Amino acid sequence: MNDNQSDILHCCEYINMNEEKSTIISDLCPPCGNCCSNLLKCPPSRDIEINVMVANIQDRFRIPWQGGARRISLDSAVPLLLFPATLYFAAQGFWPTILLFPLVALFLYYIHYTVRKYRVATKFFYVWTLTSASLVFMVFQFIVVPLLDINSLENTIITVNMIATTVCFYFTKKYAVKSHLKPDLELTNVNDLVDADENIVLLNDAEEIQCNTCKKVVPPRTYHCFVCKTCIIQQHIHSYWIDCCIGKYNRKPYIAGLILGTIMFTFLSNLILTTLCHPFNVFATIMLPDDCSDVYYDIMYGICFVSGLYCFAVAVILFFMFIYDTYMVSLGITYHEWQENYKDYKRDRSWFLSRHVIMNVLSNWRAFFNNV
Ligand SMILES: [Zn+2]
Ligand SMILES: [Zn+2]
Repeated sequence: MNDNQSDILHCCEYINMNEEKSTIISDLCPPCGNCCSNLLKCPPSRDIEINVMVANIQDRFRIPWQGGARRISLDSAVPLLLFPATLYFAAQGFWPTILLFPLVALFLYYIHYTVRKYRVATKFFYVWTLTSASLVFMVFQFIVVPLLDINSLENTIITVNMIATTVCFYFTKKYAVKSHLKPDLELTNVNDLVDADENIVLLNDAEEIQCNTCKKVVPPRTYHCFVCKTCIIQQHIHSYWIDCCIGKYNRKPYIAGLILGTIMFTFLSNLILTTLCHPFNVFATIMLPDDCSDVYYDIMYGICFVSGLYCFAVAVILFFMFIYDTYMVSLGITYHEWQENYKDYKRDRSWFLSRHVIMNVLSNWRAFFNNV
């Protein structure tokens, strides 16, 4: 080893037994070596390939499988582990429940806020929806029903409602593609622009609407989705929870799914919590949980209890989403358009009660049901 070599060594580098320069991490993990050594250079190199390193780590995250190890994406694996772990640890006692629920809610909110802000495509929330819904249903079928003597009528109502909600969200996802801007529509518009002079004038004068991102000519009320990477006709939102855009052609099953989901989770949480927690009558046969102090004596009762709480939280969120969505439909706009015009509406507080708006509510709902 000569002096020149030792002079240019960074903090994680060394000269190995073959008198060659090497780094600590590249010996442990050769594919990550270049990226890690770039990260650990003192001073750090400008050429930090974080994306390459993340891709390398993700590429190695695999499970043994017949015919070759299958890759599992990290964002799909986290909810699969996190949700059951949350239920288990929250079921340990009063304070774990009180601490874990807000912590997980904050974590989900932060991740959702970040992926929306940076328009990241991720399956994290979709896998969370599937994992939590199926696990809660399994807890209900295999623990709550035998342990708490749920009668067959109540079980049937929950099961039918669960299937109906799943069907609604299945069609929401299936019909999402219908709201994507079709290639033939794009071609028609482009051909119109090229072939017919009068169309060019007409379109250039007033009617041409171009997507700022993909530079395609689009119909009115069309917005580009950076996650789906296409233009969506009447885009309402991109729902990470069901991993698709809500647009013109799938808003009906989406709203139906929201209200059916609200009813199912409310009934499910009420059923679990009232059976566990010494219920009292509020009105007629409607009961509410009273004293839940002894649910932590058995881990199975604890899991039932926290599942009931989770169902209640989901029901509240779905209910507010349903109210918000029906409000948007009544106004005849999408969430995207609401955000664009929010300041105008806010300035005029009585606007939403004005005669003009109220007169249009019926026609807006008619347009919604007719896919106009
Ligand atoms: Zn576009
Ligand atoms: Zn989208």
